Amino acid sequence: MVRVSEEKEKIKKRVFLGLLLLVFTSLLAVTAYFFLFLSAPETYFSRGGALLLTVLLLIMLFLFILGFFSMVFTLMQNRSFPGLNWFMDKVIPLLFPLVLSIGRFLHIAQDKIQNSFIEVNNQLVRTRSKHLKRDRILLLLPHCLQKDSCSYKITHSSSNCHRCGECQVAEILELAFSLGINVEVVTGGTLARRAVQKYHPQAVVAVACERDLSSGILDSYPLPVLGVVNERPNGPCYNTMVDMESLRETLSIFTEKLDKTSTAS
Ligand code: SF4
Repeated sequence: MVRVSEEKEKIKKRVFLGLLLLVFTSLLAVTAYFFLFLSAPETYFSRGGALLLTVLLLIMLFLFILGFFSMVFTLMQNRSFPGLNWFMDKVIPLLFPLVLSIGRFLHIAQDKIQNSFIEVNNQLVRTRSKHLKRDRILLLLPHCLQKDSCSYKITHSSSNCHRCGECQVAEILELAFSLGINVEVVTGGTLARRAVQKYHPQAVVAVACERDLSSGILDSYPLPVLGVVNERPNGPCYNTMVDMESLRETLSIFTEKLDKTSTAS
């Protein structure tokens, strides 16, 4: 599989990883602050309280550092280390809100951070997935991919699409059909969660905006979700599009790992 612009992806990943490092530094500073209270003759906290806070912060920091280095090591080696996954799965959802807050403080656009996180997540998922079954792969599409003037209700069932070719839904359904995977068109997080409950997928490929993708990926942990950011030439949530090459490439990450005993439907 040919990777498109690996250097660009590396730069994108650095935004999230850099901010994560900044979060650790801040937590380290807070821990040091409480530690200093221990040695100060007069404090607002009792000595016992400051000691307890310091110990708790040190434990948290230790876990966070393990999670961070597990992530960096996995990304650098480009392979999964089962013993390290647990730390990453715990640390990423806990620290993501802090990463966004620090990014906001530094005036870094939220969708840039979310985009970077999606890149990091996609590479981590790529290292982990194995032995998938076709009918346990779910492709989630946002309803805004459908042409606004189309009257067919494809969120109820994607088979309602008449494949007229006026929007990309037809082409994507053809692709999903040829691969034998499940597709659901959803209007938001609630329907996406319902689709996950319905299909019990082993893996999900989701197309959405940065915000919905990053929250969906975090909500679904540890279910492997690969994200493809949509294109919004007409503004948000209106006649959006997806880069088909990128979607094909992302789907191939899972379809390459198909269990040889699984058959196309
Ligand atoms: S391909 Fe045609 S029928 Fe299908 S969703 Fe798009 S506009 Fe509607």
